[in-house]
Amino acid sequence: MQQERIPPLPARMGLACYKCFKEENASLSRCTGCRRISYCSSECQKIDWKAHKPMCKALSAVEKSNPLAVATLFFSLSSEPTTDLNALHNMSEAHGSNILRFCERSLGRQANMIERNLVGWEPRCMVCTRTDQIMRMEAAKNGTEPGRLTPCPRCDLSFCCSPAHWQAARALHDGPCEDGHDGLSHCDMNREVRADIKFEEVMIAEQHPSGQFVWAPERTNSAWTSLTGTSWESEFSDEMRSTVGVPASLPMGPWIRAASDNLTMAMTILYVLEQLNDDDAWTKKHTLTIHILGAATREITGSVVFEEILHRLPQVKTLKLLLCGLEMAGGRVPRVFPMDTCPVCTAQGRKRVHEHVSDTYHAYVQAQGTKFETPDLCIAFNSGASQESTHSWPATFKLLVDRKMPSVFTAFNREEAKAEAALLRSAGATLHAALGPTKNPWGSIKVIPEPNKVYGFYAVNGWLAGGFR
Ligand SMILES: [Zn+2]
Ligand SMILES: [Zn+2]
Ligand SMILES: [Zn+2]
Ligand SMILES: [Zn+2]
Ligand SMILES: [Zn+2]
Ligand SMILES: [Zn+2]
Repeated sequence: MQQERIPPLPARMGLACYKCFKEENASLSRCTGCRRISYCSSECQKIDWKAHKPMCKALSAVEKSNPLAVATLFFSLSSEPTTDLNALHNMSEAHGSNILRFCERSLGRQANMIERNLVGWEPRCMVCTRTDQIMRMEAAKNGTEPGRLTPCPRCDLSFCCSPAHWQAARALHDGPCEDGHDGLSHCDMNREVRADIKFEEVMIAEQHPSGQFVWAPERTNSAWTSLTGTSWESEFSDEMRSTVGVPASLPMGPWIRAASDNLTMAMTILYVLEQLNDDDAWTKKHTLTIHILGAATREITGSVVFEEILHRLPQVKTLKLLLCGLEMAGGRVPRVFPMDTCPVCTAQGRKRVHEHVSDTYHAYVQAQGTKFETPDLCIAFNSGASQESTHSWPATFKLLVDRKMPSVFTAFNREEAKAEAALLRSAGATLHAALGPTKNPWGSIKVIPEPNKVYGFYAVNGWLAGGFR
């Protein structure tokens, strides 16, 4: 059975129809039950009712909860606006997880992915974290008229509960964003997110079911050139404009950002190899071997454009890639997949070989025994090693450190990167100064607003957690 699509961000925020996702030229009405989501028509609402009903009841039940339960929702809120990001994160996270707990109690089960996403991206006041629902509950308690969140007129993706709070929020919203790039403000980044969502909807309409735009240049560079001080824009923009055929009148932003989301794995591998090695001998090897740890679907998609690694390393003849992870299909015995190369590479006898194995990395290495050869790089993309234990990462950390394997871990955001760096250090790794925890210059620049927060973005490979050898 095809899994139901998680509604795009504007729909999850009540800014687009929750059924057909239409936003522009739609006269949206709020669901009168939960007042949390919107529909463009009674048809859409009718079709969606069976799916929405449990969550609609659960959300409206929150407002009818007993006073003690309601008090826990109010407890963490302050009426004074603040721009202290830590305080704001703590308030919204506490409130968001409380709401989820309340809903799950009424649902009598765990919320599914779509329901969790609905709770996670509920609009909140940027400087006091109030939601429309909280304001209704406060007004009911005080016998006053409830206020309503108003969106930023420029980005329509951030909110405040009153003009006074908008005044308090302006400097933060319009100042440079620490999760952004090129000195863009939080508001500017929101506008990029908006453009990216629109771009993705067009891609899906054009029969790309994942909405993912897979693109890589088809040229081979004549020599390896350093990636230090370069950017997505400088490396890809012109080439992409001419090969994709984007008219000169349109900014390349949405195309570059969409391509970066997939090319980030290949480019991060090249960047960290350059940083981890003292000279450029690695660029002249006959065979370059990369092991991807904790690999899953995203890594398989990312590896489609790994020929870019060959194209930037003209002296390398063979690129060997191991995709190793418990979520990989197949068994513990590695399966070899010879990959296609472009006509130029094929004529030159250059090869790409993929090996897939469904296992943890330390178990794989152990099973290989004396056959095992240390690769040029072990890399785990967005491993979430600090968030979950299912991959038994500690045993992998120990193996990498004990055998002095060249290794790098990436993360979705600053918090995860810092937590992972601490784990790597406690496993005995001495972290390379340039490789984390720090923003990844070759992380995806297609960002996503953080759930249960009023500020900040995450991205695929957005951060380097740590690198060592
Ligand atoms: Zn609709
Ligand atoms: Zn509803
Ligand atoms: Zn507020
Ligand atoms: Zn804005
Ligand atoms: Zn090629
Ligand atoms: Zn593969």
